[in-house]
Amino acid sequence: MWSGFAVAMAALLVAGCNRSGRLVERDGKPLVVTTVTMVTDMVREVGGERVHVEGLMGAGVDPHTFKPRISDARLLEDAAAVFYCGLHLEGKMQESLERLSLRKPQVWAVSSGVPPDRLLAPQEEYEGHHDPHLWGDPALWAETVGVVVEGLSRIDPEGRSGFEARGEAYRKKLLALDEWARARVAEIPEGKRVLVTSHDAFFYFGRAYGFEVRGLQGVSTVSEAGFKDRAQLVKFIRERGIRTIFPESSVNPKAIAAVAEEAGVEASAEHLFSDAMGTPGDVVERRGESYDRGTYIGMVKHNINTVVDGLKPGGGTP
Ligand SMILES: [Zn+2]
Repeated sequence: MWSGFAVAMAALLVAGCNRSGRLVERDGKPLVVTTVTMVTDMVREVGGERVHVEGLMGAGVDPHTFKPRISDARLLEDAAAVFYCGLHLEGKMQESLERLSLRKPQVWAVSSGVPPDRLLAPQEEYEGHHDPHLWGDPALWAETVGVVVEGLSRIDPEGRSGFEARGEAYRKKLLALDEWARARVAEIPEGKRVLVTSHDAFFYFGRAYGFEVRGLQGVSTVSEAGFKDRAQLVKFIRERGIRTIFPESSVNPKAIAAVAEEAGVEASAEHLFSDAMGTPGDVVERRGESYDRGTYIGMVKHNINTVVDGLKPGGGTP
């Protein structure tokens, strides 16, 4: 039998301490550090009041090009647990996160919760990596909740039943969101489901809801779109009779606006949230429903409503 002391020590070891061996807390709660806003939101949903969550990337931040500051490195070092997306989404951070996970067992990529056969095939321009934009499909994103439940339970074993209950409730909300999205997308005739955006962030979205997807830039925003790609995209938009194309919140909208002008179509007045959500508290009302675009659920509702209203016959930006 383990003595109470040994159990406490083991819990402390699992719970993640900083270099001095002290469990780092904020407001008396374990410090949990996250990267992109979608992961931050999920960890807050699952962790509830038991953990203190700090996200490194805020609204409008492009994770492909994000470089951590010295203060971010310190937070990662101190964290009781770290959750990130993975699949090279956090392009400039991936290596340091992998190195951190060798020294520190409490580092988890939420994408590890998705069965490999549901990941989208590597894109040529993405150097053989899988497409990381999983959250475009809420039902797929729901698969990552288990990683957060398990990770938080490791650093706070007493909280396990609470994390499991909150995780399950959140998972159900994501599945309900998917149902809602399907019903809205059905308003666009199948032949009109063509989504043109700033970069290739919507392949999972497209697979889930039957859209053909074209991005001006590749899966990562690191490389700029060349002239040939742009000319091809303009031709594609004209040929397919696409009415509206969409800028993204974390990518400069100028390039997509120029494409719209060249093709003689409308650039949506409202951008889509691709790799970052809105600012927390950005509550909007649409179709008799209000939602916070600074949450993952609000972000998806905004994107679906914007796409459907932009593409359905007789629709328009409200
Ligand atoms: Zn992206």
